[in-house]
Amino acid sequence: PSTLPIKDCTSITPPYPRLLETLEKVRNVLPKKSKLTLAEKILYSHLRNPEESLRGKGKIRGERYLKLRPDRVAMQDASAQMALLQFMTCKLPSCAVPASIHCDHLIQAQTGAASDLTRSIETNKEVFDFLESAAQKYGIEFWRPGSGIIHQIVLENYAAPGLLMLGTDSHTPNAGGLGMLAIGVGGADAVDALTDTPWELKAPMITGVKLTGQLQGWATPKDLILHLAGKLTVRGGTGRIIEYFGPGVPAQSCTGLATIANMGAEVGATTSTFPYSDNMRQYLHATGRGPVAEAADAAAKKGFLSADEGAEYDEVIEINLSELEPHLNGPFTPDLATPLSSFSSFLNDNKYPTTLSSALIGSCTNSSYEDMSRVASIAEQAKAAGLKSKVPFLVTPGSELIRATVEKDGLQSTLESVGATVLANACGPCIGQWKRDEHKGEDNAILTSFNRNFKARNDGNLKTMNFLASPEIVTAMAFSGDLKFNPTTDSISTPNGPFKFTPPSGDRLPPTGYSAGDLSYAPSPSPVPQPQTEIAISPSSTRLEILEPFGTNFANGAGELPSMRCLMRVKGKCTTDHISAAGAWLKYKGHLSNISENTLMTAVNDESDSINKAIDLEGKEDTIPNTMKAYKAKNEPWMLVVDDNYGEGSAREHAALQPRFYGGAMIVARSFARIHETNLKKQGILPLWFLNKADYSKISAHDVVQTKGLEKVMDGTSTTDVVLLEVTKPTGEKMVVETRHTLSKDQIEWLRYGSALNYIGAMARQ
Ligand code: SF4
Repeated sequence: PSTLPIKDCTSITPPYPRLLETLEKVRNVLPKKSKLTLAEKILYSHLRNPEESLRGKGKIRGERYLKLRPDRVAMQDASAQMALLQFMTCKLPSCAVPASIHCDHLIQAQTGAASDLTRSIETNKEVFDFLESAAQKYGIEFWRPGSGIIHQIVLENYAAPGLLMLGTDSHTPNAGGLGMLAIGVGGADAVDALTDTPWELKAPMITGVKLTGQLQGWATPKDLILHLAGKLTVRGGTGRIIEYFGPGVPAQSCTGLATIANMGAEVGATTSTFPYSDNMRQYLHATGRGPVAEAADAAAKKGFLSADEGAEYDEVIEINLSELEPHLNGPFTPDLATPLSSFSSFLNDNKYPTTLSSALIGSCTNSSYEDMSRVASIAEQAKAAGLKSKVPFLVTPGSELIRATVEKDGLQSTLESVGATVLANACGPCIGQWKRDEHKGEDNAILTSFNRNFKARNDGNLKTMNFLASPEIVTAMAFSGDLKFNPTTDSISTPNGPFKFTPPSGDRLPPTGYSAGDLSYAPSPSPVPQPQTEIAISPSSTRLEILEPFGTNFANGAGELPSMRCLMRVKGKCTTDHISAAGAWLKYKGHLSNISENTLMTAVNDESDSINKAIDLEGKEDTIPNTMKAYKAKNEPWMLVVDDNYGEGSAREHAALQPRFYGGAMIVARSFARIHETNLKKQGILPLWFLNKADYSKISAHDVVQTKGLEKVMDGTSTTDVVLLEVTKPTGEKMVVETRHTLSKDQIEWLRYGSALNYIGAMARQ
């Protein structure tokens, strides 16, 4: 049953007729009788031009670049800042696709929901005010602080079978629980969708996971993904979509599938998805989206929402759910998977702490009604035995809808009666927003139902070991306080004798329906853009700064780049974290001048083998950002020479924005990480690849470098992808280095106009 009013589903129902029509065209382009996986159907039905992407011989998966049209964008408060600042530079009046902003990452957990929320709103007021003003101006749905975590809200409101969505957060794939493709991206990719620019994705390989059998006893969907993470490791899903199929899928709840999809990010998967099921249909109805379910039913009848019979996967992994036991993964990496039955000896073997210091449940990964009702069934048993949690027991509801429903149904009071503290509906301890005074600098072990457990992620303490488990296991362990306790076999002693848990039970959906809770957190659906709205950014702000469009690096919009000096040669691994560090710098994500102070500050200078050192134009050694600033002050364009796989890691657009902000015009690499290479082009920096990798050492700091042949690339008359670099040493000695470019026609325009956004804005105004 749904006690929620039926929503106006006009803007949230996938455009099934258009998608089916495109899929029909795709089938005409592909070889006759091609069998498609579900992931391919969703991707290909979102192609802007199936002919261009799919026509011709050769493999598609893992080879071709797809130009896609996503249906929707979701942004969280930390990453939305730069995404919106970039979007603003295009000067478009509204977004090309429906979008939402979610205030969740900036809420710090300290004492409890109400006070934490009030304090965090004060601390981050200028950021929230900016986001809200931008949302109002461009017609974006704005979910206020306290409304909940982006992925839970998306699942409850926007996710729909067959949809293609981009989200500026790694765990965006959570929405795959509703049979769609939801992909985590950087802000620059989100802006592609917001401006109706083709969004490019290398066609992922597809890993099929066949589920058979039935979950038993304490085993949950979380245990399935914990187990799979152990099998695949943190890199096993890279460049792949994980598509689940088989008789074990339909029995899983929609929210359980979301947990599995959420943690697909832990194995590096592009995203995860599942065929449409009755449980998905029921979830849509229960959350007030009956019309979406009806449209999905019709699309499913036309074969859209599941794989074709006989579709082939690039690899298949089979998991028998009947044999799955609870797992605990960690410490410090989500793929170190240990079955519950061996966890005690695992702790002994590694001499890890065996005393639990805190138990945390909830987050975007595991705070569904089903999770909470099963957890409450454990708490009820413990309470009846006279037990209370032995350690701090923190509960993070994923959304106001969940919090209010759990309160209405008495689950919250059950949890509180055994010692739980309910935190705000926000990320809190999952992302380091946890003010924890105990165990500072000490070895200690926490158990969480979250998704990530990298060092210092939760409380900032490098020595806190976070073991990931299902909320049921975390809760049961909280009553023992002992990590060696196995709730499926062991007992806890009480004054009335030994007490043993029976396996948890619960409801997939609230028996008397969801309760909407405090509606003041939520936006009005499909808001109309209000162009007269002033964007709220104070000129004296240290956290937000209007982004000024970059000028073109080309005189007269084309020709060769001006001759420029090499600022330094970067040695070895240089990820987006090296180029733009995270941590304490995150608070400057919306202020390009301030965050640029961290540019390449952990990069190694190949000539001196030192970190964060470069030589300025006067021959003085300084930090890399200071040297860049000195070049910029003199209006001297510069270039970098970099090593292999430059810019690997996240899709962070700051790693391209910052060098550009300081006047970087060109980067020549042994090789680039693909996403970063595209991000450089988007910001108007020319990336070039050494034809001969050994030439890397031929260009040194202060050499003057002049492109030769770029002019023809820019005017489209070049017959080759080779661009020559004439290098003049300070001694006057000259040499020529061969490089190649990877610019597409569109990307040439990005460079000509100074950035992709300048180009998009100019086209829109024509
Ligand atoms: Fe990310 Fe954790 Fe927030 Fe989920 S709860 S969105 S994993 S920070």
